[in-house]
Amino acid sequence: MSRVWNFSAGPAALPLAVLERAQRDMLDWNGSGASVMEQSHRGKRFIAMAAQAEADLRELMQIPADYAVLFLQGGATQHFAQIPMNLAGEGDSADYVVSGHWSAKAVSEARPYVRVNVAASNEPHDFLQLPPRDSWRLDPGAAYVHYTPNETIHGVEFHDIPDVGGTVPLVADLSSNILSEPLEVSRFGLIYAGAQKNIGPSGLVLMIIRRDLLQRAGRPMARIFRYAEHAAADSMLNTPNTWGWYVAGLTFQWLKEQGGLGTMAARNRAKAELLYRAIDGSGGYYRNPIELSARSRMNVRFTLHDGALDAAFLQESEAAGLLALKGHKALGGMRASLYNAVPLEAVEALVAFMRDFSQRHG
Ligand code: PMP
Repeated sequence: MSRVWNFSAGPAALPLAVLERAQRDMLDWNGSGASVMEQSHRGKRFIAMAAQAEADLRELMQIPADYAVLFLQGGATQHFAQIPMNLAGEGDSADYVVSGHWSAKAVSEARPYVRVNVAASNEPHDFLQLPPRDSWRLDPGAAYVHYTPNETIHGVEFHDIPDVGGTVPLVADLSSNILSEPLEVSRFGLIYAGAQKNIGPSGLVLMIIRRDLLQRAGRPMARIFRYAEHAAADSMLNTPNTWGWYVAGLTFQWLKEQGGLGTMAARNRAKAELLYRAIDGSGGYYRNPIELSARSRMNVRFTLHDGALDAAFLQESEAAGLLALKGHKALGGMRASLYNAVPLEAVEALVAFMRDFSQRHG
């Protein structure tokens, strides 16, 4: 077996134990004589697995009872549009904080369904820092406030939950940092995340929504788009992503075995610190341009002092078993994504390679 250290931004590394368990279950899941993908979501085995996955997630994230947990489809991008359809009525406005590529995309996908107020944007600063909270022009009459706690491409992360006052619900796209640390769920109206970074395979979207928000009429829409219908049907309004749900459940079990989100938070902090220290201590050979307080623990961007070395860096790192370090095409350079399933050893291997590379290509 030749597993690499995988720094992919998403779809991303999954815990080895999860993959091995899925492999063991592949031909005969739970004594059923078939894989989980080959049987009805209405069967008793699947229903029990789905309920266990939700219970495990509720325990891990300490989700209060007045929140529904939904296992949806469509990717986070579809929900950029579906959230305003559900939470905003005709003529309503919503506040959006733009801190990078994904929050900007959330704005453009929302525009057909809600009057968007860009309450703050750090685009003039190339998204190298976060828009300071005191610069946000929030509207107390907004249907909700949307922000992106971790920007996967720009590599900036909010390290505190912004206080947006008491009544307007806070909506967060946690696609690239959910489950990376404990989270005070009660501060949010709605949390959503595409699965393919910290949860499981793509094609699954996890949503945690305060139940009173399910009462909102939103816009006229087909039942299949309405979150209240999905909640009433236990996320089985139509055939769910059964495979994704099952792998997510294995990931939740794995997280519990690791010691929960407090343990993950400590590991994630240590991994990010190790890599940022290597970058900052390289005497300018490697650089990360993000303001210190806004640096992402999950997605670490860096450039080489001479872009002409990029191709050699990528080719040699891959040969050394370090996968997917190429930065997003919009920004160039490198990016190492350090999600839960990336162990400290992977970051140690990366840092050792970076040091060695800088000596050989000094
Ligand atoms: N939001 C964030 C923060 C992301 O990182 C991504 C994907 N990388 C998306 C949204 C879009 O997710 P999807 O491709 O599942 O629609």
